[in-house]
Amino acid sequence: DDGTSGSPEVVKDKLLGLLAPGFDEQSCLSRYQSVLYRRISPHFPSTYLLERLREQEALQKKCGPRTELYMKAVEQLKSGQDIKVMDCNYLVWTAYSGLGNRILTIASAFLYAILTNRVLLVDGDKGTADLFCEPFPETSWLLPSDFPIKQFKNFSVVSPESYGNKLKSKVVQRSPAFVYLHLAHDYSDFDKLFFCEDNQHYLQTIPWLILKSDNYFVPSLFLIPAYQEELMRLFPQRDVVFHHLGRYLFHPSNSVWGMITRYYDSYLARADEKLGIQIRVFDTETGPFKHVMDQVLACTFKEHLLPEVDTQEQIVSPRKAKLKAVLVTSLNSGYYEEFRNMYWEHPTANGETISFHQPSHEEHQDSDKKMHNRKAWAEIYLLSLSDVMVTSAWSTFGYVAQGLSGLKPWLLFKPENRTAPDPPCRQVLSMEPCFHAPPFYDCKAKRGTDTGKLVPHVTHCEDMSWGLKLV
Ligand code: GDP
Repeated sequence: DDGTSGSPEVVKDKLLGLLAPGFDEQSCLSRYQSVLYRRISPHFPSTYLLERLREQEALQKKCGPRTELYMKAVEQLKSGQDIKVMDCNYLVWTAYSGLGNRILTIASAFLYAILTNRVLLVDGDKGTADLFCEPFPETSWLLPSDFPIKQFKNFSVVSPESYGNKLKSKVVQRSPAFVYLHLAHDYSDFDKLFFCEDNQHYLQTIPWLILKSDNYFVPSLFLIPAYQEELMRLFPQRDVVFHHLGRYLFHPSNSVWGMITRYYDSYLARADEKLGIQIRVFDTETGPFKHVMDQVLACTFKEHLLPEVDTQEQIVSPRKAKLKAVLVTSLNSGYYEEFRNMYWEHPTANGETISFHQPSHEEHQDSDKKMHNRKAWAEIYLLSLSDVMVTSAWSTFGYVAQGLSGLKPWLLFKPENRTAPDPPCRQVLSMEPCFHAPPFYDCKAKRGTDTGKLVPHVTHCEDMSWGLKLV
């Protein structure tokens, strides 16, 4: 006890003005210590959001695993008979895709659960149970292992249980016990009808929804008239949805928190300024690629994020007190090595001292391995502690870091034909993630439409012309 925890001000700060008290501090240190590492967010959650979070916590507790109401709902699901919506209705999230995608879909599912008064239960696979603390007090958000729909992890775009396929074959029953929502990148036009208001009315009559997605589908929820008023009250400032929900939900488990704090304290804490550079390359080969290095250099010099090096005069530049630490994250170590060499072989033109750090270079994505996932989560979190950030186009890994940090990073455009794009990067319009596979459908007129042009706060993304994001 530091002797100050009794003061309401300190207690409030520790919980970021967002989190519920009542957890055992030792069981989730990051919940209470993040305030020591993160700068205070300039964005305040609305009072209404706080109210709804407390209500959701109460619902999660009332209907959570091992409660009588949960057992009853599971019995109903098993019997498949006499199905009616009761006090407790559920949204089951399936672990799917890379960690960044998973974090974004949990946040989307959570917002949908709040909008529809459902209990969110997450599949603990792919490290979900190992990476995150429980977000809700006095209950668990983990789907119990005896969940009766055993095949749910294998549901896909072709499953007859999916809402889209039921609509397609016109076999939408009046009251099934559950419906599978396929909202992954390969979803069909029928699956996309999820985003239409009439279909939302139908889904409200189903006690169990099982969701598989790899997308941040929040922007399209803002286009469903039935939810617009509620969303406006929850988020009067629209571009902070993931910022608040992400900080509310995702607390690194103690093992990952140890990795984050050890790295930070050893390599980053003493710097005057911390620059994060996330290099994510979507190519069949692993690299390192010259065009990627050229692009990162062009961006960081053009935007004055890194000082130029003095290759002409071989003199030692006057020593400035300023230390800049650069955290590089990438599957490949080549870019980091080139940076480090460059600033070792040559003095900086402005006398700044620069250090480079890359926690891991995993070479390949391997989202089923425990330590691999822990490193990925630790690196996302470390990136989010930067003062300035450079991120890669199309990467949900980068979106999560940007959302948690509350910064507007410099986004490296996606190279085409292995050529560095010009301009190499630009600052994003908002810290919100991009929805990569939105529907382009006008539900009322029943025809295609550009959903990025309907309201000013939902527009196309900087890095993907067909994507949608909140601004
Ligand atoms: P996205 O593919 O960039 O949208 O991000 P995802 O997080 O969904 O999937 C990429 C996965 O590859 C990550 O979850 C990690 O498993 C791995 N990965 C990609 N980049 C990095 C990195 O810089 N550091 C680490 N440790 N893992 C990475």
